[in-house]
Amino acid sequence: MIRGGTIYNRRNVVIFKLVIMGFIGLIVLSSVTVAIVQSLRVSALQNDVEQLTQQVILYKQGAGDAQDKSPTGSSSNSSSDIKNIGESSDPGDSTDAVHYTKPYQKLYPDMRVDNQVEAKLPEKNTVYLTFDDGPSENTVKVLDTLKLYGIRATFFVIGREDDESLALYKRIVDEGHTLAIHSYTHNYEQIYESVDAYLADFNRLYELLYKTTGQYPTMFRFPGGSNNVYAERSGITGELIAEMTRRGFVYYDWNVSSQDASNPPPSISSITNNATKYSRKSTVSQVLFHDSKPKVNTAAALPNIIEYYAAEGFVFDRLTPEVTPVQFKSLSDYSEYAEDDHSDQ
Ligand SMILES: [Zn+2]
Repeated sequence: MIRGGTIYNRRNVVIFKLVIMGFIGLIVLSSVTVAIVQSLRVSALQNDVEQLTQQVILYKQGAGDAQDKSPTGSSSNSSSDIKNIGESSDPGDSTDAVHYTKPYQKLYPDMRVDNQVEAKLPEKNTVYLTFDDGPSENTVKVLDTLKLYGIRATFFVIGREDDESLALYKRIVDEGHTLAIHSYTHNYEQIYESVDAYLADFNRLYELLYKTTGQYPTMFRFPGGSNNVYAERSGITGELIAEMTRRGFVYYDWNVSSQDASNPPPSISSITNNATKYSRKSTVSQVLFHDSKPKVNTAAALPNIIEYYAAEGFVFDRLTPEVTPVQFKSLSDYSEYAEDDHSDQ
């Protein structure tokens, strides 16, 4: 009995040892499996990162060297490079497997600029007069003055569909000025609520201007400037700029402000003084004005301003994608030039 009991106990010990070893074996095996799965995940993520980096490089090349990439001088090759970014959503497309990272990138696929050009600073001191928030009856006065002096300017317009406004969009183009996008609704709360909301508003004006003039605009100005607090509050500033840039649009802020949007409306001489406070450090003055209905003094101040800049030896021109844009670098940049009055919208 005692012997038998000892054998029985020894067997128990052996079985117990086996069970323990089995457990240890299982634990080791499962940790190895977890480690393998994790490393596979990491390498998949690394692939994603590499792909994204590649997208960025391709995009930058497409944006910068558009002309160089196309030996025939046609922009079709380079533009298709840009189109591929984020557009190869076809699952069968394995060669250039570049995928959208945000759902809004799929919206309005035709809303983009195919011909990218290299922007430069002008050699001569140049003043770019820019007018936001038109068209209105003041746009007529501004256009008449520009015609009188034989100079060209830039109009960042809002959405209006009455006959007079449609005729003014056309007149801006016909008289050789740049017609560019500001915002259809110019409703800050609405357009800066999300990137989707901004794109919807932009597209509405983009299509209206095309329908009216036969040309798609390629340039724009953010209402309130690129550093406006509304987009900042929604936390979309960086994403919005990235998305518009991805689509090939160039945005223009300003480095001189007539402050004609401040309240109460400034006098003609005050607008003239503000609009001519250019920096001698820069060859470029991109001056902000407004040609919405209440900005009567802006239209009235314009001849004085033109004559001032002419006397200072400036050349007048309109903004084009060939001109290096003035772009704010931070929220505080040019905060004194904030477009702070939207009561007329
Ligand atoms: Zn505006």
